[in-house]
Amino acid sequence: MKRKTEKIIALLTALCCMACTTACGREIPNSNNNSEFVVTGGDADKSVIDEDGETIMLVPRTTAAAEYTDTPDLGTTATGKNASLVTRSKEELDRINSNKKPTVTAKPSGGASGVLRTTVVKVTGTGVGGGTGTGTGTYVGTQAVTTTATTPSVPTIQLSYTSAEIWVGTTKDYAIVTGNYIEEWTTSDANIATVDQFGNITGVSEGKCKIRVTDKNTKEYGEIDVNVVKPKGIQEVDGVTYADGILIANKTYALPKTYNPGGLTNDTYNAFQSLVQAAANSGISLWNASGFRSYESQEQIYNNYVYTHGQATADTFSARPGHSEHQTGMAIDVNNPSDSFNGTPEAIWLKEHCVEYGFIIRYPEGKQEITGYKYEPWHIRYVGVEMAKKIRDEGIARGDVNITLEEYFGINSVYQQ
Ligand SMILES: [Zn+2]
Repeated sequence: MKRKTEKIIALLTALCCMACTTACGREIPNSNNNSEFVVTGGDADKSVIDEDGETIMLVPRTTAAAEYTDTPDLGTTATGKNASLVTRSKEELDRINSNKKPTVTAKPSGGASGVLRTTVVKVTGTGVGGGTGTGTGTYVGTQAVTTTATTPSVPTIQLSYTSAEIWVGTTKDYAIVTGNYIEEWTTSDANIATVDQFGNITGVSEGKCKIRVTDKNTKEYGEIDVNVVKPKGIQEVDGVTYADGILIANKTYALPKTYNPGGLTNDTYNAFQSLVQAAANSGISLWNASGFRSYESQEQIYNNYVYTHGQATADTFSARPGHSEHQTGMAIDVNNPSDSFNGTPEAIWLKEHCVEYGFIIRYPEGKQEITGYKYEPWHIRYVGVEMAKKIRDEGIARGDVNITLEEYFGINSVYQQ
């Protein structure tokens, strides 16, 4: 038997050289392949008589392996009328299939979990000899399943308050959300109140609206009923805002371009003269370094600062045109409008006595978040003796000697854009 096999291999090798030159195109595999094979077709249908006189039917092997046209799978074998069987080891099939098996990856989204599914894959192959083969296999992958989350019909997010009264032009601290949410804040009417991404609500005009916080993932929400009203005692006359009759000019409330008293008001000028005289009597020398400034001159000053420092920095120490108190004719920068004035005998005297002459230190220490300006010990504002004393007494009552005009009237000072 062994001898016969050797003979066949020798003959096949010879036949191979012949067969390759024939027109049939059929390939004879090399002898390293130990697979079984059969010959189909005319040219190969030959017999050979060996030297012992035995007739050996040639059974050449072909390479009619299926060419996979789809994803093959384990156990797939090409079969067909004219295709020769190709026997592959399980390891080889595993290797082929693992190379061709589709990789399916999916992440669950919308809160849904991926579902394992088994899919039957049909495989079709075509043999070199013209035969076709089919087979089936399976693969297991993870398939993405998208579900649409339903919007809850009742608010489920708990807020620190569910209703709020806000004055026009003021901002209320954000409502604290209890729980871990990816917050998205929206307003039902931006003409009444707006809200930023942190939940800070700003009153725009009188009216009512709803502010809603929604969790981006679950769509749970919470709501605040907002009522926007005019501040008590706040009046607007010809574009100028007054609080209890005191003219207000800050980052929230601007003066019209046309508001121009032409200099310090008479009351302010006279009060300052008295102040300077009283200081002189105590050996303190005070003078007006900068008083009235028109809208146009403030515009120049501010634009210069923006040019040299950038707008963000300029906004911390210089007012935008229309927002400067110097345009009121009731504000004065005393002596030396710079940080070096702080702590001087003049600054200390001014802080102690200005109220007696109807002035307040307009931008006190530690109140930058409220006034919108850093501490300016040199900038005084005339409000009249009566109001200056009211504000001072209110500060004492609240235990805050640095009380601001904004805190006294309950207004804020924030640029609206
Ligand atoms: Zn000033």
